[in-house]
Amino acid sequence: MKTFKAVLSAMILFSSLLIFVGCEADQSDRNEHYETPKLVVGIMVDQMRYDYIYRYWDHYGEDGIKRLMSEGFSFDNAHFDYAPTYTGPGHASVYTGTTPAVHGIIGNSWFLKDTGGHTYVTGDPDVFTVGSESDEGEMSPKWMLSSSIADELRLHNNMRSKAVGIALKDRGAILPAGFTGDAYWFDYTEIKMISSSYYMDELPDWVNEFNERNLPAQYVSEPWETLRPIETYTESIEDDNPYEGTFRGQDRPVFPHDLPAYAEIADNGIFANTPFGDTYTFEMAYAAIEGEELGQDEFTDMLSISLSSTDHVGHRYGPASKEVQDIYIRLDREIARLLNYLDEHIGKENVLVFLTSDHGAAHNPQYMRDLGLPTGNYNRSETEDLLEERLTDIYGFNPVRTLRSTQLFLDHDVIHANGARPEQVQRDAAEILISVNGVAGALTADALRGGTFTDAIHQKIQRGYNPSRSGDVIYWLEPQWFTSSRTTGTTHGAPWSYDTRAPLIWYGWDIPSGSSTELVGISDIASTVANFINIPYTSGNTGQPMNHIIYGRN
Ligand SMILES: [Zn+2]
Repeated sequence: MKTFKAVLSAMILFSSLLIFVGCEADQSDRNEHYETPKLVVGIMVDQMRYDYIYRYWDHYGEDGIKRLMSEGFSFDNAHFDYAPTYTGPGHASVYTGTTPAVHGIIGNSWFLKDTGGHTYVTGDPDVFTVGSESDEGEMSPKWMLSSSIADELRLHNNMRSKAVGIALKDRGAILPAGFTGDAYWFDYTEIKMISSSYYMDELPDWVNEFNERNLPAQYVSEPWETLRPIETYTESIEDDNPYEGTFRGQDRPVFPHDLPAYAEIADNGIFANTPFGDTYTFEMAYAAIEGEELGQDEFTDMLSISLSSTDHVGHRYGPASKEVQDIYIRLDREIARLLNYLDEHIGKENVLVFLTSDHGAAHNPQYMRDLGLPTGNYNRSETEDLLEERLTDIYGFNPVRTLRSTQLFLDHDVIHANGARPEQVQRDAAEILISVNGVAGALTADALRGGTFTDAIHQKIQRGYNPSRSGDVIYWLEPQWFTSSRTTGTTHGAPWSYDTRAPLIWYGWDIPSGSSTELVGISDIASTVANFINIPYTSGNTGQPMNHIIYGRN
């Protein structure tokens, strides 16, 4: 890009000189295509905490994560700049360059204020599954309110670029591919990759051929053992511990995990809960690069790979487990294979790669309790009862509509019919919520709409608040508190750093090697990509490109 600017200045100077001496400028020079990468590869590692880079560092090879870190540029203080930190909002924010306040993806599912129903983040009953008989393809990006960077790339050159999103999770594939790319995800009931009629009428041949390989059957044909001797996994706690979940039919959460036996009880889809789900996703990515001929012409293509199995394994076992350690050691090998593949087929100098996650994860609450660290499990239904009781005492009627995912929705019709003011009920409800054990803070919709917060946590809540979709009072829990009574594994969703801090590494095209601890937001990724490939920002972009930091340190 810097080269392009220098060439452009020289061309302008040269053209002016030609005009000055009365000659005709050579038009062909001006029409020459400026240089951009042939392929942008976004890698989203679902639930990857930043510290996994260094926690398992000694186990990584030289060609994977260490190569990204040494040849690329790492932002060591990158955060999701909003809450709640869930998969849907995470993928949408990375690819739209904004936060739920603007892109509208406020959760993995949410209450619908107009109908009283609820929607799944990518649920769309108006489309149908392509590639299987199940309903797992009734999905589209229709709830997203901003274009994705993939859409802007395609709009920019009149749809001559290709954009493909791949993940086991539908939302991990759909939100990045946006409205005009193609998305493929895993049908957990029919154990194959599918899409929806939103994108296409039938699967391309390369997807059918991929499905015919029936890789899941291979993955469950042997037990899941640690890649290296388990006694070398000293960065994790004992394999047999009370903090981890099990497969159906399994007594203790320990290696080796007898996948052939558990596949008999469930089905071959259980491979998605092991590192082989990542292998499968990468295999699909290679099939896409070849099948769609990505990165083969002058129009930059975009491939979004989202790895869902790291999240499935993280939820079941938690960050301290040997299972999580093993999936990251294996992921490192897959990344090495991808970088080698890109070297061979497209060339490092022709690809722009970024790796990040969609949220982090907390430690297991019981593990924290046993170590004497602050933690807790919050009880949602008790809180809902308390709100109904206290607010009924104050107003003489029950103004609560529902309590969903740390959001209180009030019944505005009832409030108005009784001559009360919603703003006052919101304030009273917030006061009651703050008195609940484990609740750290609460903000009313009125306050969130009326001013701008500068405190980091309040700001994150505000950026996660969408006026048309979010509730009347948004609250959040103390650090390491859980919204459920979960005792095994872990979860995420909080505004705290263990959930918001993410790895963010740029690699390839014009990227110098280096690192920065400057605070950057995940919603800065999309505009950074846009600057690298000279395309417009997304329709809802609010992020700032990071290029000045990358080049400022070089
Ligand atoms: Zn996720």
